[in-house]
Amino acid sequence: MNKVIEKLLSVQELDVEIIEVKRKLAGGPARLKDDEDRLERHRESLAVAARTAKEALRVAERKNGEVDAVDEKINGLGAKMNTARTNKEYEAFKTEIAGHKADREILEEEALQQWAVGEEREAEAALEEKKVKAIEVELAAAREEWQREAVVLESKLGELDEVRRARLNGLPPMWLMSYERLLKSQGTPVLAPVVDQYCQGCQMSLSIHDVTRAWKGAEVVKCRHCNRILYAETL
Ligand SMILES: [Zn+2]
Repeated sequence: MNKVIEKLLSVQELDVEIIEVKRKLAGGPARLKDDEDRLERHRESLAVAARTAKEALRVAERKNGEVDAVDEKINGLGAKMNTARTNKEYEAFKTEIAGHKADREILEEEALQQWAVGEEREAEAALEEKKVKAIEVELAAAREEWQREAVVLESKLGELDEVRRARLNGLPPMWLMSYERLLKSQGTPVLAPVVDQYCQGCQMSLSIHDVTRAWKGAEVVKCRHCNRILYAETL
């Protein structure tokens, strides 16, 4: 086989590995990002639950205070009613007290409702807090594991790069430039063998002219369909 093609194939072999290592290096942070997003969502839910719990309990307390104030009014009116001099006065106090009692019932009901809401939200917040803590532990472990993994991958990538540089040595610039450009724009495989007048990269038929040029191996010949560099396996 053409020496240049042989060299380029050995570079391509490394590039397949390099791309895979880079894919793994990019995949780690993406995985962590998913966990980080999940954590953030639960932290937000926790904050919302805690805040609404606090608000509901504050409203409940205020309503309870209002109930106490109405009680005081009722007691005061009760004392006054006992000193009423006429039946009309007595009835007026009685009506007023009945009105306050009705208000009191509504206020008490509202206070109870708010307590119930507050307690429900507090329970939700407690549940979210548990989830947040569990995810934090998970995330810390995943980060540590990823750090160890990344060190191994980075060193592997360094080694591959070094071998690649050595393999690039002596390649004609024209071939190298074409190869690097195609690698960047369309990834591996950059090279495609020609078998029976067909490009093995895309299985499309090639012109005799291109096949002949590829067989000669004197210049860079690209498949007109998939843009890969064509070569003859048996040369
Ligand atoms: Zn092709």
